[in-house]
Amino acid sequence: MKKKMSITTKILIAMGIGLILGSTLNSFASGSDFVQTYIVGGIFHVVGSMFINALKMLVVPLVTFSLICGVCGIGDVGMLGRVGLKAFLLYMLTTAMAITLALTVAIMIGPGKGGETPIIENTGFVAKDAPPLTDIFINIVPSNPINAFANGEMLQIIFFVILFAIAMLMSGETGKKLAGGAERLNEVMMKVVTLVMDFAPIGVFCLMAKTFSEQGLSLILPMIGYFSVVIVCLLIHAFGTLNLLLVTMAKLNPLIFLKKIRSAQIFAFSTASSNATIPITLQAVEKRIGVHNSIASFTVPFGATINMDGTAIMQGVATVFIANVYGIDLGLNQYLTIIGMSVLASIGTAGVPGVGLIMLAMVFNQVGLPVEGIGLILGVDRLLDMVRTAVNISGDATVSCIVAAGENEIDMDVFNNPDAGVITEVELPHKN
Ligand code: ASP
Repeated sequence: MKKKMSITTKILIAMGIGLILGSTLNSFASGSDFVQTYIVGGIFHVVGSMFINALKMLVVPLVTFSLICGVCGIGDVGMLGRVGLKAFLLYMLTTAMAITLALTVAIMIGPGKGGETPIIENTGFVAKDAPPLTDIFINIVPSNPINAFANGEMLQIIFFVILFAIAMLMSGETGKKLAGGAERLNEVMMKVVTLVMDFAPIGVFCLMAKTFSEQGLSLILPMIGYFSVVIVCLLIHAFGTLNLLLVTMAKLNPLIFLKKIRSAQIFAFSTASSNATIPITLQAVEKRIGVHNSIASFTVPFGATINMDGTAIMQGVATVFIANVYGIDLGLNQYLTIIGMSVLASIGTAGVPGVGLIMLAMVFNQVGLPVEGIGLILGVDRLLDMVRTAVNISGDATVSCIVAAGENEIDMDVFNNPDAGVITEVELPHKN
């Protein structure tokens, strides 16, 4: 029997076709009103946005049910605290490693030196106010959980759900019954994920075609120095640092890991949003890699919110680049400040498109770089955002595996089975 093509392969093909078609439209049809209005601004925009909405639609219910199951599955508040602390420390560690790598490579290569990038006096970039750091911590506790759910405030949702699930554990029989219900709801929500995944090839195709017909690769040329340093650092981090941690701390084969996490990376790349990718990351980490729900249900949404390795890399390279362009010398103290600020900024950066740039303003303010310099890198940021988001979720998945391995909560049969959790085609129910 012929093997059915997996959804990931289909999405990969759709992504390639979208990229080629988008770039072609950008080169040959950017002046055509019909193409711009009806195809790019019409079909691609509408279908692509519908698809992103469908993904976001899954996030809150999935995280809620899955996290309730997770906490009830752990069943022990002490272990919950340990898992939480380990995940938090590892997330901070990977981000600090990422930014240090970015600063080192950027200082060595020196993008923006030698005046090849013209300083534009007024780039028109006005920094939106980054939230004060104190607010980031205060806002972890929701004053109104319904508001938190309605606005998809991930840290607040996680806080409330964990508290609620702990109370369920304390409520004996009543709590047990509720936990059974949450388990069933979680199972059904996972099925909703597979339904949405079935439309992913079309959605991803439209997203890619729209982005590349608007962006065009020609934008990169004047910024090639900055762009390539960011990409090189992202690749070293994703395939070097993270895989090294995976081997040394979780004793897992990185090649199998990379294969299994591919679908989530593709989604992160095409949506540029770690938050919207949560359902797919969760599916990959639990069903494909075999991390137990009790760990993944917490570490994945937590990571999507507070762990931004790729974003930190962009911020590190951007700081060195803008300092070079403006001829400003940064000292050791300032570099250390940049490391600290980027780690903190990554906690405050929600996993949505483009927000890393807003947090960069906070870093610039702190070390005294001109904030309007951000306008220089704005043009290439969308493409970098796509790649760094894929790196962000790879970090989330890596840390999930390390924490799970430490707790002996990875099913190695699932990990070693190449077909585990592969979504092929959804069979819709029919009445006979
Ligand atoms: N788009 C990134 C994410 O969702 C955040 C950023 O770097 O702007 O992970």
